[in-house]
Amino acid sequence: MISPVMPTYARAPVSFVSGKGCWLEDGNGEQWLDAGAGIAVSVLGHAHPRLVSALKSQAESVWHTSNLYRIPEQERLAAMLADSTFADTVFFTNSGAEACEAAVKTARRHYFGCGLPEKNEIIAMEGSFHGRTLGMISVSGNPKHTEGFNPLAGGFTQVAANDIEAVDNAVSERTAAIMAEPVLGEGGIIPLSDLFLKQLRELCDQREILLILDEVQCGVGRTGRLFAHEWAGIEPDIMAVGKGIGGGFPLGACLATEEAAQHMVAGTHGSTYGGNPLACRVGQEVMSIVANEEFLQDVRRRSGFLRQRLEAIVETNPEVFSGVRGSGFMLGLVCRPPNTDVIDAVFGERLLLVPGSGNVVRILPPLNMEDVNLSEVCNRISAAATKMKAKANA
Ligand code: PLP
Repeated sequence: MISPVMPTYARAPVSFVSGKGCWLEDGNGEQWLDAGAGIAVSVLGHAHPRLVSALKSQAESVWHTSNLYRIPEQERLAAMLADSTFADTVFFTNSGAEACEAAVKTARRHYFGCGLPEKNEIIAMEGSFHGRTLGMISVSGNPKHTEGFNPLAGGFTQVAANDIEAVDNAVSERTAAIMAEPVLGEGGIIPLSDLFLKQLRELCDQREILLILDEVQCGVGRTGRLFAHEWAGIEPDIMAVGKGIGGGFPLGACLATEEAAQHMVAGTHGSTYGGNPLACRVGQEVMSIVANEEFLQDVRRRSGFLRQRLEAIVETNPEVFSGVRGSGFMLGLVCRPPNTDVIDAVFGERLLLVPGSGNVVRILPPLNMEDVNLSEVCNRISAAATKMKAKANA
């Protein structure tokens, strides 16, 4: 018999009743170390006092009005995002997929408004992930996500990531935008090189194409910069943000330049809950903590320490791991046995990590995880690897 919750997830047999910082407590009172942050969402850990207080105070004033009216919390968050990025304007959503949808719609609408409605195709990266809506599975074209959901939305092609020639060959008069994650997350923690991102920017400028970056997973401080594209010294025209921006409260955003968004006029797009006062009040608090050079510098220092420790673990456990890759606190351990075995083994150590494509285990800790807890993450990974080796040799 089907369960009351539609069984679309392969869930681990645990649930949590409370959290504090990077620790979660299960129903039996056991403490779990959370180095997955709910898949790169809880950027400030669980129950951060400033986020709790922001949410509580907003909950006591007003939860929801509507985008029929002005929403001051939304206006303040939009201004904060615009002040800290390339963007001039922001459309708020409830999730990353919706932010990506808004990004694609903004790009298509741009050329429609410029009198070029046939310029509507989007080139995306193979192995990319932009969410599970029908539109976004069509963008990525990953058979794992599209199977059984035909017909897909049209106008999307995929090319090899980090291959500028492949992108160049795919561009035509009909190309409206190139869409990419600066670090492929679900795809297995694959960073796009700075060179490739620069080349994408140049190609877009030369061929009059919009550059859409999906920073739903790699944005909001995760790589040690507020947004990952800053490492390459480039700016997109449109950017999707999600996950970390709400620190655990559902919130997404599509950021754009004035030029790119000039035809997104009243009536072209909307959402009942997007930019809800509760979400935006929490988003402001996240931004006021994370969009801070001192905070980001400390993320870079601590993530450097984590990476060094992980590289040492790879060296001493070549039977279990073949490498570590990624950027900042968006790291992937490439596994030799199936990554699900590694996830199970660290689960046995009460450590939460996240599987990814390419036989990778993702390490996505809260951005404020302290050295002592980062060390503990590494100790638990080591202990799990040792047990896996002993079991394999038994
Ligand atoms: N884009 C990227 C890069 C993601 O990693 C994800 C989620 O994992 C999404 C979009 C979709 O976000 P959501 O699950 O909030 O719709």
